[in-house]
Amino acid sequence: MSDHFFAREYPKARKQYRCDLCAKVILKGEKHCRMPMVLDGTRQASRLHSGCEALCDRYQSEADPMDDENDFESVHEWAVDQDLWPPEEVPGE
Ligand SMILES: [Zn+2]
Repeated sequence: MSDHFFAREYPKARKQYRCDLCAKVILKGEKHCRMPMVLDGTRQASRLHSGCEALCDRYQSEADPMDDENDFESVHEWAVDQDLWPPEEVPGE
C-alpha cells in the first residue's frame, strides 16, 4: 500500500516538538513545517525545521527517489552523501 501525503502547513509550534529529520528540538513558537500523511493506514504528521524541509525538497528533486525510498532516513543518508548534513539552521521568526 502506498503512503499518502497532504498539503503542508506552517504553524507556529504550540509546544516543543522534535524534528523528524534531524531529531533536534523544534522550539515552542518556532514556525516549522507540518506534513500530514498516512503511513501504513495510520494518520499522522511529521514536523520539520524549515531547513530540514528544504533538504527533503532537494532530495525529491535531485535524488529522484523511488517510492519505497521516500522516507526521512533516506533523506538523511542522501544528505550525508552529498555533504549537506547537518541542514542549514533557519532561525524561527
Ligand atoms: Zn530538523
